[in-house]
Order: sequence, then C-alpha cells, then structure tokens
Amino acid sequence: IAIKPRRPELKTALPGPNTRAIMDRDALHLSTSYMRPYPFVPDHGEGVWLTDVDGNTMLDFFAGIAVSTTGHAHPHVVKGVQEQITKFTHVCLTDYPQEITTSLAERLVKHVERPGEKWRVFFGNSGAEAVEAAIKLARNHTGRTHIISTMGSFHGRTYGAITLTGSKTKYKRGFGPLLPAVSHVPYPNPFRPPLGSTPETCGQAVIDHIESLFVGVIPADEVAAIIIEPMQGEGGYIIPPADFLPKLRALCDKHGIMLIFDEVQAGMGRSGKMFSFQHFFEHGDVQPDMITLAKGIASGMPISALLAKESVMTWPVGSHGSTYGGNPVAAAASHATLDLLEGVVKHPGCGDNLMDNATQVGDYIMAELKKMQAQFPFLGDIRGKGLFIGLEFVKPDGSPDGALRDRASMAMFEKGLLNLDCGEAVIRISPPLILTREDAETGLQIMRQALSELK
Ligand code: PMP
Repeated sequence: IAIKPRRPELKTALPGPNTRAIMDRDALHLSTSYMRPYPFVPDHGEGVWLTDVDGNTMLDFFAGIAVSTTGHAHPHVVKGVQEQITKFTHVCLTDYPQEITTSLAERLVKHVERPGEKWRVFFGNSGAEAVEAAIKLARNHTGRTHIISTMGSFHGRTYGAITLTGSKTKYKRGFGPLLPAVSHVPYPNPFRPPLGSTPETCGQAVIDHIESLFVGVIPADEVAAIIIEPMQGEGGYIIPPADFLPKLRALCDKHGIMLIFDEVQAGMGRSGKMFSFQHFFEHGDVQPDMITLAKGIASGMPISALLAKESVMTWPVGSHGSTYGGNPVAAAASHATLDLLEGVVKHPGCGDNLMDNATQVGDYIMAELKKMQAQFPFLGDIRGKGLFIGLEFVKPDGSPDGALRDRASMAMFEKGLLNLDCGEAVIRISPPLILTREDAETGLQIMRQALSELK
C-alpha cells in the first residue's frame, strides 16, 4: 500500500480545464438540487489522497461525508468486492438468504449484543432507508404513532426522514405535507446550551423538557420512539454532555418508548468506538433498542443496516423489504471494512486497528486545534471524539460566523485540503480512518496557513 504523495500537489489553478468542462456539462444535465460548493471533479484516489481530472492531488479530510472509512481504493476492500462480483451481483435478500449478508449481520450484532441479548438486522441501501425502517418498526412494534426527534438533527431525505430532520428549512420547504405525529426537542449542545441551561445542565434540561411535553402536550403512551444522533453530525458535530444519553435511556424505559440511535454518521468506528453511544456508559446504561447504520459501514459501497433487539424486531413476514438492500457486493466491502476496523487485517502505520487509529490521530488533531484557538480567537469551539471533529467559527460577540467559516473552508480547499461544512458555522473533520499522524499534520499545516490568511 503506497502512502504517497505526502503533500497535496496542485498542477493547475483550481478549477483546471478538465474540471471546468465537466462542471459545465454537469450544470446542464444534473439535478438542480445538487450543491457544488467546491470546483473538484475526482478522477482517482489512493488512501487519503484524491486526484482530480486535471491531475491535482488533494488531501481528503471529509471522506465523502464520513463514508470512506478505509480511504480510497483500499486494496483489501477492492479485493473483497472483486471476489464477490465475479460470483454474483444480485439475487434479492428479501427472498433468498445469502451467506455474505448472514455473516455480516452476525458480525455487526456482536458489537452491540450483551450476554443473554439477541439482535437482528434489516439491510437497506442508504441511511435514509435505515431510518425509514426504524420508524416503521417502532410504530409496528409498539402500536403507537408519535416519534420525537431533535432540533439540528439530520436523518435523510425521504419523507419520514425529512420529517424527523430538524435542521435546515430547505430540506422541508415546498415538500409537505410531511409525516404526521412527529415532534422536535432541543439537542443538548454544551457550547450553545438550550432552554436557558448551562453546559453542565443542558442534558438534564432537555430531559425535563421532554417530561414536560408528556404533561398535556404529547401523551407518553402514544410515543413510539425517540430518535437521536448520539453525536450530532450535520447539525454541527456536537457531543452531548456525558449524563444525557443514560438519562434519556431511563426516560424511555419509564414510558415504554423505543430509543433509536442514528449512528449513520458517527458510527462504524469514526468516534474511536464502533458506535458513538459507547462513549457514554459512565453515568448509567445507554443500550438503545435500535441502531441505524450506513455511510462508513462499507467504505463507500451503498449498504445500510437497521439493528434492533430481537424482542423488538417483530414485524410480520413480508411487511418490509428492499430489492437491492443488503447487496452482496456492498456486503463484501462491509466485511473488508470491518476487517480493518476490528484489526483482523492491519493497515500499515495505523496501529492495531482503525478504531484505535481514529482515537490516536483524532486526539492529536484535537490537541493541535486547541493550540490554534489561542492564535485564532474566531475559533470558538473545538470538539469531537476520534476522527469526528468540529471547529465552530464565532464572531467577537460569540454568535456563529458562517461567512468566516465559508471563507476558511474555501481557503483550505484552495491549498489542497478537501473539507466540508456542517451546522451554522462549523467545519467538520471526518477523514478516512486510515489517516496517519503524518498526514494529519499536513492537513493541520494547511489549516493553520489558511486561518492565518483570514486574520
Ligand atoms: N442519518 C444521519 C445521522 C446522517 O448523517 C445521514 C446523512 N448525512 C443520514 C441519516 C442519511 O443518510 P443517506 O444520505 O445515506 O440517506
């Protein structure tokens, strides 16, 4: 496995002529809904490096929105995909079992099952489909209808998923009517505590708020589920206070409500643990009833999963399915990704396994970014776990500075660092989990340079 080149190599001014030509055609023929924040058209990738159609090589700090767990064209993933595609590409998992998906399910549930507990898996193709499956299962299993979600959340673009989504208005405007019986509560963001709370009390404040809704606003016995990202992704890479999820689990238990953790973005090792909720056992139990997974699960091949306790996955035969869901070629990529995450196969320079690497390299990046905060007062908050890291840009009065964030992001891009925004004024760092400390330092140097030019 080559880990070259060590620096971004920009051969043309961005965008180069080939990039420009493809972007012009793209603008004529593709959906008007696509955003094109950066002029970049990939040609090929290797590890954490992506080369565009003009030969410019960039360092990838966003991994296709937290998807490319093992980087680009990882030889072990490529081999797994090649082996499976020469056997068969599709048969339809809804009707016929396939060993590759059976063993993938067995492997995934091992990361959540406790002694005496059994979990089952439903496979789809995208995060939104996993979320739809979770809503359907929660309603079907409980016989209740109401779903509670959080403000700032993102759960996908299908009807159920956009209804649950609590971030940007553009996701919903003009698309209604949406799903009935969905409510949103604040997310406990320690940097911007809701409901008049403090960083320390914001978790309890949200719990109290939910309890207050149960008095006269939403009958608790009509609530099928609470769905939440244990670490909020699109909303700004927000880590809740340590006591929040255990308290939420207790609240759900008290009222017979299903607790669904949407791990689509923060799960699959990105936070340094297989699932991001596994960081929060200190103040009590946080075992959910269901987990949605996608993105990083297969290094970019389209497959998603809804994991649910066996006692919960009770929907009748034939009641839910998918033609492509659990595609065997994507499942092969998922097995290969798990090999590297679990350390069954080792990636050179990344220690025992990619989860440990995410922790070590992530801690290093966080420490360096915190040093940068002293130099750049507009860096209001640096937060994260593993390689799930957010930098929030603020104005001198502490309010979010989205315009400055946009300039910073573009300055980093122009120096060869692929990055992506989230929330109102946040840049997310969500690189492939094979990022070495050395390549992390290259990215940090670009960030320092770009930020110093903003002053
Ligand atoms: N849930 C979360 C937490 C996500 O971050 C996303 C995608 N950003 C989704 C669901 C939807 O996934 P997909 O785009 O694959 O449908």
